[in-house]
Amino acid sequence: MKIGFIGLGNMGGPMAANLVKAGHEVTGFDTVVRPEGVRMAASAADASRDADVVITMLPNGAIVDAVTSEVIPAMTRGAVLCDCSTVEVETARLVAKRAGAAGLLAADAPVSGGIGGAAAGTLTFMVGAEPATFARLEPVLQAMGKRIVHCGNPGAGQAAKICNNMILGVTMIATCEAFALADKLGLSRQSMFDVVSTSSGYSWTMNAYCPAPGIGPQSPADNGYRPGFASELMLKDLTLSQAAAEAADADTPMGALARELYKRFVEDEDGRGKDFSAMLPRFEKRHRSA
Ligand code: NAD
Repeated sequence: MKIGFIGLGNMGGPMAANLVKAGHEVTGFDTVVRPEGVRMAASAADASRDADVVITMLPNGAIVDAVTSEVIPAMTRGAVLCDCSTVEVETARLVAKRAGAAGLLAADAPVSGGIGGAAAGTLTFMVGAEPATFARLEPVLQAMGKRIVHCGNPGAGQAAKICNNMILGVTMIATCEAFALADKLGLSRQSMFDVVSTSSGYSWTMNAYCPAPGIGPQSPADNGYRPGFASELMLKDLTLSQAAAEAADADTPMGALARELYKRFVEDEDGRGKDFSAMLPRFEKRHRSA
């Protein structure tokens, strides 16, 4: 297939490389980077002309809004516009509506799996699209991922992504504060892990991504909290989930508090650039009244 790929950063670069590897004819565009092995166009519109599928992998909703406004008029009727960035549910729905009005098919397909998953081609895609659009897109996404989940109509992929990451942020904080409490109660971290990872407090953050160094499977904690998944990206996703909760009138007190804590961590407590599991050394240093 002819694929236009816009946004070739940490995630988009390796994703586009996997599409090339799978035999697709990829034309890329990025305002900054020029990765090797992908033919580059002079503009986003040029990368999109004649493409069967256009994929965007951009930093945020405002940029997706601007880039898709430029790309939609350049695309061929019947082609698929697929945004893989993590953005607001509302932005995903707006882009799909605009694309539909121009005779295009549209999907939101945010991912989980991080930079490692993008390079290995093992991402999970959460797709919001009409069933016929999903059927057209699925083989393309398979070249970049190992699990492609059709979540529903446009917007549903973003909804799944931000709900998942709201659970992830809340659970990471709960796991870290429990470790810090266990420390102060004189419980060894190994005992804490051995019990919780096999008891009702178990979770992905404890069992697969343990925030305590030297305990459980290898994780960013064993690597000086180098990301992994950076705290500022967690803050972005928690902010998106709070915007969605506000718009949908959903009561999400734990999500709101998790956002507040990651905001403080990133903006005032030196958390920027550290993995989101670095909440553990943060809690370690604190006292009840602080
Ligand atoms: P990144 O900043 O590395 O890449 C974004 C790229 O977009 C950059 O190369 C930038 O130059 C380019 N860009 C910005 N404005 C542009 C424009 N107007 N036209 C063309 N290109 C433009 O970010 P990333 O880590 O690749 O993340 C991309 C998206 O994926 C984000 O929405 C992020 O939330 C999501 N995501 C990231 C991860 C991760 O672990 N990094 C995991 C899951 C989802």
